[in-house]
Order: sequence, then C-alpha cells, then structure tokens
Amino acid sequence: MITQSNKIIIGFLIAISLSAISGISFALIKASLSNNLTQSSSENEANQNKDYQESKNIENNLSVIPPPRQKQTILTTQLLQQEEKKFKQGSEYFNEADRLLAEARDKNDSQSAIFLLNEAQKKLEQADKIMQEFEPNSPYYQSAQNYINYIPFYADSINQWKNYFTQLDTYQAKTHPWETTINNNNFIDLTYHNKQYVMAKAKKQSVVLTFDDGPSPQYTEAILDILRKYNVKATFFVVGSQVSQYCPILRRIYQEGHEIGNHSYNHPWMGRISSEEQQQEIFQTQSIIENCIGSKPRWFRSPYASQNESTLKIAHQAGLNTALWTIDTEDWRKTSTTNSIIEKALNYRSNNIILMHDGVEPNPNFKHPSASSSRSNTVQSLDIIIQRFQDKGFQFVTISEAFSSY
Ligand SMILES: [Zn+2]
Repeated sequence: MITQSNKIIIGFLIAISLSAISGISFALIKASLSNNLTQSSSENEANQNKDYQESKNIENNLSVIPPPRQKQTILTTQLLQQEEKKFKQGSEYFNEADRLLAEARDKNDSQSAIFLLNEAQKKLEQADKIMQEFEPNSPYYQSAQNYINYIPFYADSINQWKNYFTQLDTYQAKTHPWETTINNNNFIDLTYHNKQYVMAKAKKQSVVLTFDDGPSPQYTEAILDILRKYNVKATFFVVGSQVSQYCPILRRIYQEGHEIGNHSYNHPWMGRISSEEQQQEIFQTQSIIENCIGSKPRWFRSPYASQNESTLKIAHQAGLNTALWTIDTEDWRKTSTTNSIIEKALNYRSNNIILMHDGVEPNPNFKHPSASSSRSNTVQSLDIIIQRFQDKGFQFVTISEAFSSY
C-alpha cells in the first residue's frame, strides 16, 4: 500500500530521473553539435577567456616568458616547414628517377642506357627512404604512402629495361630477337631499340599523334572535333574496360577515319602480371573492340611501357604490332600546362610518335603520384600543335600509315 509520504518520495524520484534524462540528452545534443559544427561561440569565448586567464597568470608570475600557446605555434610551424621540405625532396627524387628512366629508354647504346637506369634506381631508393620517414600524424603521411605504393612498380620497370639493355649487349646491333619476324614483314616492334631502326624507314615529314586511355566521355569528343577541323588523322590506344562503357564514342573515332589501337583491358603493369593474365588483357580487348566497331586493331601499346618478352609474343599471336612513343608530352602530369605540352610536342624531327591522353588513369590503384585527373590542357594545346606542324609542311598520319612500307 502506498502511503501519502511514499507518493511524495516516488514523485520526487520521477522528477529527478526526468531531469537527469533531459540533462543527458541536452549533453548529447551539445556534443553532436560541437562534433558536426564548430564549437558554439560562447564555448569559444569561455576557452579564450580561460587561455587568457592562464597566460595572464603566467605573465603575472614570470613576465619575461612569452605565453606558452604562442611558443607552441612557432614550433608547429617549424615542424610543418621541415615536413614540407622533406616531402618536396622525396618527390623530387622520384621525379628524377622518372625522368632518367624515360631518357634511358630512348638510348641506342646499352652502356649509356644502363648508366642512366642505375642512376634512376639510386634516386628511387632515396625517394623511398625519405617517404618511409613520415609518421602517421604527419599531414604528408598519406601522400608519402602513395609514393611508397608506387615505387615498386617503377623499380620493376627499371629492371625490365636493364634486363633488356643487358641482353642487348650479347647481341650485335639490330639482332633483337624479333628482327627476323620484322624482316618477314609480320611483326613490327617499335618498343625496344628497333624503334630507331624502323623509324628511319618511315615516311618523311610525317608525325603520328596518339591518344591513350580513352574512350572517355569528358575529352574524346572535344579532341575529335579539333582533329576534324584540321582534317587530321590520329591513333587512339583504347582501354577495353572503357570501350565496354563508351562504345558509341569508339564508333565515332573509327567512323571519322582514325586508327584504333589496343591498350589492354584493365591498364595493368603488363610486366608484373602472369602470361595468362597478359593474354586475357590483350585478347579480351581485341574482342570488345571488334564487337563495337567490327574491326580489330593492328597495334598494341603497353600501359606505362611495362612489358616483357611474353607481352611481345602474345601481341604477335593476337596479330598486333607493338609501339610505345618517341615523345611524351607529359600531358598526364599535374604540373603540365598548355604551354609545356605544346613545347614538348613540337619537335620537328621527322616520324615522331607523340604521346597524349584523351582519358585519365582508368585504374585508381595504379594512379601515379604526379598524375593529373584532368585532360583539359591536352584539349587546349591541340589546335596550336596541329597548326605549327602543318605550317612546317608536316603530314599527320596514323601509325599504320607511317609504317606502311612494311
Ligand atoms: Zn595508358
């Protein structure tokens, strides 16, 4: 039986628990507000007053010592500057390795190529060492990780070319394992040293524009419009997974008279995957292109110039010749500008194969740390590149047209 006094006690308890609950929920709302939004101004003021009071107290006690908060800020800025400097140094080593690798690939003699590749390897090791030094609380930690993840791919690439050039020493000039096939008119390999050999026989005063990584819904059609304006034919090395999404764009490329090349299905580092996977990459792309336009490519280009003997064999089995490029406009770099692309493209040595991009890196796992995710500069540089070459009397040809003497 509940007495009158018990009723009062129960009522009192209910009142306490209600106010406790509302207190808790108020605290929760407050917490979520300060998480989602910035701290309320009254809280900020309270903190500032507290800080002010603390520094006032210290000042009163030891007026010579500056307020501790200010001292801490200076230290943090210094640390940040050191971190930034370190990161810049690391990425500069990486970029140097990148440049040395590209330079080595263009060498005719194995001795100077191997020298450059060894230098590239050293730079890459230095870059790796620096990038490993960033702690998880550094603002550069994540960017450093991107470099660390990418460096093994580059190390592989350096080895690939070192092997090639070392092997070259055991052959006499122009006795590349593929030369017999080349002379039999079946297979053209423009990826290794035969590049110079074959290029010497290409048509004079011609230049080949190549666009990789498309078809892309953002840039390919803008590029096609410009090419049509000047009646220029180019070669598009397309990625199978992009074709599966944008077949109508590929059809337009083909219908406007450009050449279509095979650039693998998933854009992997071919030199790092098994022969079976390489086969899949090349053959699957041949089929998807044939299904879309009713015709098969005649040329294959390895993503990142990463390839080995299997790549060449498989390409040959698929009825493909292989080609890299002779000029990289570096339009894929974050640091590239319309002017830098034009400057790199405008090399008036005959028969150059110019590398540009109408698509972006299709595989986010392999995104180069310096790669841009826009190709607007490529589109914007194209008018001037075409005009300048045409002013000098150059003819734009597709890659098959350039090497049709074979
Ligand atoms: Zn590519």
